[in-house]
Amino acid sequence: MLLKNIKIVIFTLVFVQFSIQSIAQNYWQQQIDYKIDVQMDTRKHQYSGEQKLVYYNNSPDTLYKVYFHLYPNAFQPGSMMDIRSQNLLDPDRRVLDRIGKLSEDEIGYLKVSSMLQEGQELNLRTSQTILIVQLNNPIPPKSSTSFSLAFEGQVPLQIRRNGRDSFEGIDYSMAQWYPKMAEYDDKGWHTSPYVAREFYAPWGNFEVDITIDKSYVIAGTGILQNPNEVGYGYEKEGVKVKRKGSKLTWKFKAENVHDFVWAADKEYTQLTAQVQEGPLVRFFYVPGEETKNWELLPQYVVPAFEYAQEHYGKYGWDEYSIIQGGDGGMEYPMATLVANKKPTGVRSMKSLLGTVFHEMMHSWYQGMIATDESYFAWMDEGFTSYADATMENEVLGKDNPFPLERSYKTYYRWANSGNEEPSSTHSDHFYTNTGYSVATYTKGAMALDILGYIIGNRNRDQGLLRYYNEWSFKHPDEQDLIKVMEKESDIELSWFFDYWIHSTKTTDYSIDNISTTAKATQSKIHLSKLGQMPMPIDLIVTKANGEEVLYYIPLAMMLGEKPNETELNRISCDEWPWTHPEYELIIDIPTTEIKKIEIDPSKRMPDIDQSNNILELDQEKEQ
Ligand SMILES: [Zn+2]
Repeated sequence: MLLKNIKIVIFTLVFVQFSIQSIAQNYWQQQIDYKIDVQMDTRKHQYSGEQKLVYYNNSPDTLYKVYFHLYPNAFQPGSMMDIRSQNLLDPDRRVLDRIGKLSEDEIGYLKVSSMLQEGQELNLRTSQTILIVQLNNPIPPKSSTSFSLAFEGQVPLQIRRNGRDSFEGIDYSMAQWYPKMAEYDDKGWHTSPYVAREFYAPWGNFEVDITIDKSYVIAGTGILQNPNEVGYGYEKEGVKVKRKGSKLTWKFKAENVHDFVWAADKEYTQLTAQVQEGPLVRFFYVPGEETKNWELLPQYVVPAFEYAQEHYGKYGWDEYSIIQGGDGGMEYPMATLVANKKPTGVRSMKSLLGTVFHEMMHSWYQGMIATDESYFAWMDEGFTSYADATMENEVLGKDNPFPLERSYKTYYRWANSGNEEPSSTHSDHFYTNTGYSVATYTKGAMALDILGYIIGNRNRDQGLLRYYNEWSFKHPDEQDLIKVMEKESDIELSWFFDYWIHSTKTTDYSIDNISTTAKATQSKIHLSKLGQMPMPIDLIVTKANGEEVLYYIPLAMMLGEKPNETELNRISCDEWPWTHPEYELIIDIPTTEIKKIEIDPSKRMPDIDQSNNILELDQEKEQ
């Protein structure tokens, strides 16, 4: 028996290896190693540093230029972020016109004073938040080069995501603070200026040394390398920490991440909790009346991690830090910044947990499975929203059979408003913030719920694990996801994403009427496709005696059927071609025995007008 098991294990290993190789054949990604040494001047709120980079060009292309993001430059009057915010119909309340009012010592900036490639000075040009670097020595395919640069920055007054002196008093939220190399992939360079949204960068390793006045406690991405010199709850039990001099250097290392965030405050306290076969979770917050709820976080976050690892794949690093900071909730690799206050006041436990669960799930959909947020925000915000809703339902014992219900309601309101824009719109280019939010968070979350309706929940769940197995620590895009789900379900799916993500076409089916056929033992149900987005149909007929029969009408272009996941007897009907506006369903139940006909009682099919989805027959009157 043991031998047999070993054989199975070997077979599985070979198979997994083979499937990874089959992706790797065409797939490549850039790689970068950062060594950053930064000195923080907390009196002027400025910092200066040196950055050494080794950049691996794994692409088949020669690179003549490289680009870096200089995000802090967005926080200057007249910047693209400032003017955009002042011209949006529904600007973010945290931004409004606040950037335009920043004084010289309150603005943010990041300047690269010099850059060398292999010791040779390079020509630099800055456009807003993008640094354009003309290379003396082009980087040939499959080779590496080194850069070293000096930078100077000023931490802006907290406006959005990063900054100093947040409205709840956190000293430094240091997100997007260093010259961050832009990503180059099979679609070319990704150099979106920082207008509102920001995530997409090469995978790499970070060694970051931060020197700061020793009264500050630092929390951030990575693993602290000198805990016994630093203390503040990082030190090993029993170690007495002596902090000599006026400054301390904090040494962090992070492997296989695509960003590095940190935060500093003089009053941070630290709690820790260990997830079994998972990360050590660190919680940093300023203790007090307003942060009482933070003391309760570990008891929810540990089971949440267990749930997430079981359903979405293993968390990829040894530590995760939940840090009071920023201005809402924002995900970074191995860490998140979560504000304890909203503009309306201190967060409730419900709101705090909701945000923590959301940011935590970003460790999967963004932290490990790193999609390009500009073009596929629906795959990170949406999938994260789907995962946090289902996780919260389970971990908090809510037992809601339809955890995505609120998303559907939001979507129907927006779809019927006429203001909808396709989810495939670049994140910064939506006409409204609401449009972005519904297209990405809401429709992205619903995409997975609807996928459950189309291919079955089990196939969808297995597909998500397969997506994790094949694409974690890489940059998948929409096509990669579709392929995974098609393989898992043996159902063709491009059509769904074409409609749901690339258009604003909507679904509306109706049950028009029912009549008796020439055979009195049969009934004929007339259905219409009124909306332009087609869907397979689950139709439940309830007999007068209470018995329910499920009729399943697959779409012709699915070229397959989902498994029956209900306890009902299912009758598979002829497929419905999307080109055909009408469908006649003949069923072996006499009309006189039918009480009710209903399309998709699970409500997962996104039908924008459900008033025509039910037909009830008043049998008593007719008899
Ligand atoms: Zn999010």
